[in-house]
Amino acid sequence: MATPTATSPQHAGAFLQGTKRLLIDGELVDAASGATFETIDPGTGEVLATVAEGGAEDIDRAVKAARRAFEGEWSTLNPSERGRIIHRIGDLIAENAEELAELDSLDNGKPKAVAQAADVALAADLFWYMAGWATKIKGGTVTPSVPYLPGAEFHAYTLREPIGVVGQIIPWNFPLLMAAWKLGPALTTGNTVVLKPAEQTPLSALRLGELMLEAGLPKGVVNVVPGFGETAGAALAEHPDVNKIAFTGSTEVGKLIARAATGNLKRVSLELGGKSPNIIFDDADVDAAIAGAAQGIFFNQGEVCSAGSRLYVAEEHFDQVVEGVSAAAKGIKVGYGMDADTEMGPLVSQEQFDRVTGYLKKGQEEGSSAVAGGNNIDRPGYYVEPTVITGADANHAIVREEVFGPVIAALPFSDVEDLARQANDSHYGLAAGVWTRDISKAHKLAKRIQAGTVHINTYHVFSAELPFGGYKQSGWGREMGEEVLNNYLETKSVIVGL
Ligand code: ADP
Ligand code: MG
Repeated sequence: MATPTATSPQHAGAFLQGTKRLLIDGELVDAASGATFETIDPGTGEVLATVAEGGAEDIDRAVKAARRAFEGEWSTLNPSERGRIIHRIGDLIAENAEELAELDSLDNGKPKAVAQAADVALAADLFWYMAGWATKIKGGTVTPSVPYLPGAEFHAYTLREPIGVVGQIIPWNFPLLMAAWKLGPALTTGNTVVLKPAEQTPLSALRLGELMLEAGLPKGVVNVVPGFGETAGAALAEHPDVNKIAFTGSTEVGKLIARAATGNLKRVSLELGGKSPNIIFDDADVDAAIAGAAQGIFFNQGEVCSAGSRLYVAEEHFDQVVEGVSAAAKGIKVGYGMDADTEMGPLVSQEQFDRVTGYLKKGQEEGSSAVAGGNNIDRPGYYVEPTVITGADANHAIVREEVFGPVIAALPFSDVEDLARQANDSHYGLAAGVWTRDISKAHKLAKRIQAGTVHINTYHVFSAELPFGGYKQSGWGREMGEEVLNNYLETKSVIVGL
C-alpha cells in the first residue's frame, strides 16, 4: 500500500471501500435492481467510490419503511427523548468532523478545510439548534366567537402535528449541510424521511445515515436512497404515499417537482436558484466591500445558490472595485480540495464544468470581457479560473442567468433611485448584499429588495437560527430558524362545545 500523502484521506479511507449501499429500514441494502453507479473525484476525474443505485422500487421500499416508522415508536416518542437523539446526531457529526469533511471534499471537490469549518460545523449546529425545538412545538388556546350561534360557548385549541412521510431531494454543492438543513426540522417535528442525495455527492449522506442509527434514531425514521434525479428523485416526488416533498436544486427541476406533487397534492417546499445582487455604494468602506464581493462569489467555487453574482458598483468606485476583486480572484489558490493550501477546488462535475465554461464563452460572444480569469485550467479534473466580467449589459445571459460557478459580472451605476429596480430585475429573489456607511439608506434598500436574505456590510452569513429561502422563482418556504418548522407541521383546530 502506498504511503499516505498530504492529499490522501486520513479519516475517510475506510468508508470509501466496497460498494456503498442504500440505507432502508435501518439496514444497508443493495438496490433491488442490483445496479450501481460511480461517484467521481472532481479533483482528478477518477472514480472515488461505487454506490448502489436506488430506483423506483427502492424508493417504494423506503417509503414503506418510513410509513411504518411514522406509525411506530417515532411519533409516540416523547419530545424530550426525540430532542436528545437529534442532539446526539449533532454530537456525532462534530466527533466525526474530519471524516465527513474529507468525504465532502473528495466527493464535491471543495477544500477540506472549508468543508470542516463551514459545512460540517454548520451541520452539527443545525441539529443542536433543531433538537431544542422538539420540546417547544405547541399550539394555542382560542375563545372563538361564532356570530350565527348567539350565546353558545366554546373552548378551542390548536394542535401542531407532523405531516407524515417526507421525501427530501438535495443538491451536491453542500452535500452534508443540505442533508442537515432538511433532516433536522423534519425530525424535530416528528416526521419520517426518505432522503435522496445528489448523484454527484452521495457519500456524506450515507455516512450521516450510519451516524443517525448510532445516535439512537429508530430504524426507518431516516432512509437514505442515492440514485439519479430522473429515476429515484422523480419516483419520490410523485409517490402517492409521500405526504410532503422538500427540494433544493435548480429552478428548472423545482418546477418538475411541483408538478409531480400534484398527483396526491403533497406539500411542497423548494429552495431554488438565484442571481443575487451585491451593491456597493459611494459611501461604502471600499476595502471591506471588495473583500465581501470576492467572498460573496468565490466561496465554494461559486457553487452557492445565494452567491452574489451581480455586482453593482457606484460609478466613482467602479475601477477600484473591479481591480480589487480581480486581484482577489488572481490571488486565490485553486487546487485539489484535500491539499492543505487550496482555497478553491474544482467544479463538481464535467456537466457543471461544461455549463460554466459555456457561460464564459457566451459572455465573450455577448461582448463582455473577463478582466480576471475567463478560462478553464488545463489539468485533469474540472477546474476553472475565478473570473471577473465587465462590459456586460443588463440583458446579457451572464447577468440574467445562474452560472453557478466562480464568475461575477460587475456593472457600474449612477442613478441611486433606479437601483432597487435593477436589483429586482430578475426572476430570482434569493439574496442580496448592500455596502454603505449610511444605515438609513441600507435599511431602506433592504426593505425594497425582493429577496429572502439581505446582507448589509457582510455576505454569506448562514445560521441555523436565520430563515433562508427565496422570493419569486427562488422558491417556496424557508429553511432554518423557527420558520422552517411550518414546512413540516399541520395545524389542527379542536373545538369543544361547552
Ligand atoms: P443540477 O442540475 O445543478 O445538478 P438539479 O436541480 O438537477 O441540479 O439537482 C438537484 C437534485 O435534484 C439532485 O438530487 C438530482 O438528482 C435531483 N433531480 C434532478 N432531476 C430530477 C427530477 N426530474 N425529479 C426529481 N429529482 C430530480
Ligand atoms: Mg440537473
